[in-house]
Amino acid sequence: MSESLSPPNIVPLEQILPDEPLLMMGAGPVPIPQKVAAANSIVINHLGDTMNRAIEQVKDMSRYVFQTRSSHVMGVSGPGSAAMEMAIANLVMPGSRVLCITNGYFSQRLAEMSRRVRAEPTILEMPKNQGVDVELVERELQRGHYDVVTMVQGETSNTVYNRHLEQIAQLAKRYGCLIIVDAVCTLSTMPLEMDNWQVDAIITGGQKGLSSIPGVSLLAFSEEAWVRKIANRQDLPYHWCLDAQLADKFWNQKSYHYTAPVSGILALHEALRLVCEETLPNRFRRHLRCSEALQAGLEAMGLDLLIEKQHRLNSVIGIIVPDHVSADAVRADMSCVHKVEISGAFGLNILRIGQMGEQSRAHNLFRTLHAFGSSMRKCGAKLDLPAGMAELERVLSN
Ligand SMILES: *Cc1c(COP(=O)(O)O)cnc(C)c1O
Repeated sequence: MSESLSPPNIVPLEQILPDEPLLMMGAGPVPIPQKVAAANSIVINHLGDTMNRAIEQVKDMSRYVFQTRSSHVMGVSGPGSAAMEMAIANLVMPGSRVLCITNGYFSQRLAEMSRRVRAEPTILEMPKNQGVDVELVERELQRGHYDVVTMVQGETSNTVYNRHLEQIAQLAKRYGCLIIVDAVCTLSTMPLEMDNWQVDAIITGGQKGLSSIPGVSLLAFSEEAWVRKIANRQDLPYHWCLDAQLADKFWNQKSYHYTAPVSGILALHEALRLVCEETLPNRFRRHLRCSEALQAGLEAMGLDLLIEKQHRLNSVIGIIVPDHVSADAVRADMSCVHKVEISGAFGLNILRIGQMGEQSRAHNLFRTLHAFGSSMRKCGAKLDLPAGMAELERVLSN
């Protein structure tokens, strides 16, 4: 017989957390508005009238944000990856032929998820650091016989933008495929029109473009995808939690599937409400203006961005770190001295600064660019900090 466990020695959370919250300017999670934080602290009955009213509004607001009239808009308890997996689990069948257009880590994840539901993914990798090439995709669609196409709108991992999403969606339709789009970092930061572009499933997370908390995500299925693949499905999807027909019970029929993440859904409600209040066109303009100003400021300092302008994502900016400078040291100094947090990248010698949701505010840009320039210089980079700050000011005030 061994002794039972005693309570571990634990320090209170405030001794672990920094004295002053860090400004989250990386590739997500991003800062959340006070209204979102307040909603996130509330627990209510997940099946009561109050929740039902909130859910109806979440769906209406989501339809606006996704630009769809589909009645198959739903949330999922889990990260953006759970929404990706839900789209795959319901639209990709065992043996389905899936064309996975990849240009980075997240688009490859969609291929990996397809493989796990026993489908047959074909990876069509785009040239390094480039957005989707429409001709390459069309050639492949002519050659192979595919059921589903997957792609991301923005590759957060290496900051590549797939600007020809609309054409790819049209091609997919022409070849009889459904198309699944990961818009985790881009939704509500740039145009994406689900119905007009004929996208069959759009996935998003909470913690990026929408400026809500991580762990509660949204997705929408088109009517066509619902009828063709979900409503008439004979076999059961592999994942019980991610089964869209079961989820529909909660999201459309006011009944039980699993206990919904009530606080997170209320937080999402507030995040979506702020998007509706701002309106999409204004929100797109704000993101574009802020991202372009930051990019101009970085370049005016003498730094190089990883991705050429025509393939560059605005929601997350990748900055090349000079060879003799340690990206980790820069991040550590920014955190410690300036209380600003940015991201490294999956093995690439770049640093990434996010421009999603609350990150795209002038006051956050000034603080971040100053912190970045100052820490880079301290870590050995040669750059002109005042020139960068002046350029940021100039572009923002234009
Ligand atoms: C962050 C991100 C994901 C994954 O989201 P998680 O919440 O980390 O699971 C997927 N796709 C893209 C494009 C992302 O930026």
